Amino acid sequence: MQRLDGKTAIVTGGGGGIGGATCRRFAQEGARVAVFDMNIEAAQRVAAGIVETGGVAMAFKCDITERAEVDEAVAAAESQLGPIDILINNAGWDVFKPFTKTEPAQWARLIAINLTGALHMHHAVLPGMAARKKGRIVNIASDAARVGSSGEAVYAACKGGLVSFSKTIAREHARHGITVNVVCPGPTDTALFADYKEGAGNPEKLMEAFTRAIPLGRIGQPDDLPGAIAFFASDDAAFITGQVLSVSGG
Ligand code: NAD
Repeated sequence: MQRLDGKTAIVTGGGGGIGGATCRRFAQEGARVAVFDMNIEAAQRVAAGIVETGGVAMAFKCDITERAEVDEAVAAAESQLGPIDILINNAGWDVFKPFTKTEPAQWARLIAINLTGALHMHHAVLPGMAARKKGRIVNIASDAARVGSSGEAVYAACKGGLVSFSKTIAREHARHGITVNVVCPGPTDTALFADYKEGAGNPEKLMEAFTRAIPLGRIGQPDDLPGAIAFFASDDAAFITGQVLSVSGG
């Protein structure tokens, strides 16, 4: 018996680095995986890889900033894979610049993806989970929310907002058997982190600084995250809600 046997899980940003690794791990643990991404080709690649290895997964085009698209994709996932037991809010985007060099239009996009998008997803799945009296939600924030991060002011504010939103939804929905927890990655080797290195100007120096600062001596790899995410999504974490766990090498 695998931990997520018979469960249906949505992973937003499932076509990306951490999201793709999470989809694969969830399928290995027995879940039927709805791979949500605005980049449908990336989502299809992840879903096809899972199906090739004997798992159950389907790709759904979903820009989480568009409420109508969210509702449509959630309805399609439910009709094809079953009622949603697990939601992983993982889609994210960042701009790497000192705050005074950013533009209000960029703040709006950062807030739309990193905060409002996650709100849309909660709003779409919570009524069904509450009616069924069960549900697991794991929100992917960032260590930037806990300790700040130069060049990521608005992103950090969104992720901080996602943490306090998660703690509140955890309280509001505990009586419905729904848990809401947060995983905070540290620097992790994905496309998003490649953009960060680019933005920092001197990627080699940045990597040296990170490697020195991280007690476990390396930045994260996408496969470092799914174990913690699957734990919160499983019944092993049935009595844990409103909590924040850093997966960042210390
Ligand atoms: P990634 O760029 O590899 O993946 C992000 C995915 O989200 C992409 O597939 C992208 O298409 C998708 N996406 C972006 N906007 C979307 C939207 N509006 N609707 C639907 N999908 C959308 O990045 P990643 O590093 O795997 O990031 C995953 C999560 O981890 C993000 O929430 C990110 O903020 C967080 N995180 C990453 C790091 C890191 O260093 N990589 C550190 C801390 C937190």
